[in-house]
Amino acid sequence: MRIELDRLKAEGQYRTLAESASSCEDGWIWRDGKRMLNLASNHYLGLGHRLDEAALARWTENAGEAVAGFGTDADAAIRTGATASRLIVGGDPAIGRFERDFAAYKGTEASLVFGSGYMANVGIIGALVGRNDIVFSDKLNHASIVDGAVLSRAETVRYRNRDMDHLESLLRRADPSKKKLIVTDSVFSMDGSIAPLAELAELKERYGAMLMVDEAHSGGVYGREGEGLAHALGLTGRIDVQMGTFGKAYGCYGAYAAGDAVVIDYLVNKARSLIFSTALPPMVVHAIRDQWKAVRRDGWRRERLLSQAEWLRMQLRGAGFDTGDSECHIVPVIVGSNERAVAFGRRLQEEGVAAVPIRPPTVPEGTARIRFTPMATHREEDLQMALERIVTVGRELGVVPG
Ligand code: PMP
Repeated sequence: MRIELDRLKAEGQYRTLAESASSCEDGWIWRDGKRMLNLASNHYLGLGHRLDEAALARWTENAGEAVAGFGTDADAAIRTGATASRLIVGGDPAIGRFERDFAAYKGTEASLVFGSGYMANVGIIGALVGRNDIVFSDKLNHASIVDGAVLSRAETVRYRNRDMDHLESLLRRADPSKKKLIVTDSVFSMDGSIAPLAELAELKERYGAMLMVDEAHSGGVYGREGEGLAHALGLTGRIDVQMGTFGKAYGCYGAYAAGDAVVIDYLVNKARSLIFSTALPPMVVHAIRDQWKAVRRDGWRRERLLSQAEWLRMQLRGAGFDTGDSECHIVPVIVGSNERAVAFGRRLQEEGVAAVPIRPPTVPEGTARIRFTPMATHREEDLQMALERIVTVGRELGVVPG
């Protein structure tokens, strides 16, 4: 172990756990005893994530709606543990109610709550495909999709990022008798680029495949009420399974799958990360519902997030930084070597900007980067300050000309 850890250190790949305390209201964070502008989180909309009295009071408002035999929503709101898998005795009524309401919002027949996005991806892929099937996976898909495909024991074929010609050539070559699953992130989390969902739906139809879309970074951000990218593009009915997390724009924890009733029924029976794991605590389900309501209500947060990110991207490009294919609220600055990315991140933190280096294997070799994620609640003057410091440090480290 020590030898491997030393190797990671030598290659600029060593990681440690830092403690941080963040405020969503204004988008600042305390880290290593210092206050910094938080440009490193996934709390895109800046929705508060505190179990405050107002939230508890809102939940208690529902208390009149007694839940047969179990007490009330108010009880559930403070129950810390589900005590078992949902298939045993962990199925709090608040989860089922939330799933029906959430499916209506997504425009699907049904939805299913999972413990986290990682668990959802591992469970869904493992349920949909098995040993004799094929997963077609975008090369830049999230690690949880990669792990889900490995655990499923299906053959995995990776296509070049967003390259539909490449995907089609692979589909054409594949054994027509085998079950096929195409899976993609809707927004690529380290590039801020967007998957061609309409073309993916076309290919899945042409080749008789299933299509699964991971809306982790687009849920809450796209769509009139944050329903996600597939919904915003009118593609809901052409995607077999959408999944997403409540840990990012929704500012909570947990995840969902959404699709036809038969698909969700199938997942209940086959998704091992659902079947063999304790259900989310009822109080977390209540917190999810509360955050979801705020996401739907606050359209201004989506607009502000996207316009702030657009401003930051344009300014960074103007200053000579390589922001890759970014076209949404995630704005990377690609610096190349791991050492340079680490130095860039460290200097920015010294300058009061929380920005974390992203290195292989999270991104391809030689493309280490800083991933900037503005929030809807950042003030313009704070982003201006961050930009100035990014430019100063970028020049100091030779990332852009001085
Ligand atoms: N999919 C993608 C694209 C992600 O970025 C993430 C989180 N990094 C996940 C899934 C996993 O979600 P969670 O954090 O809820 O486990």
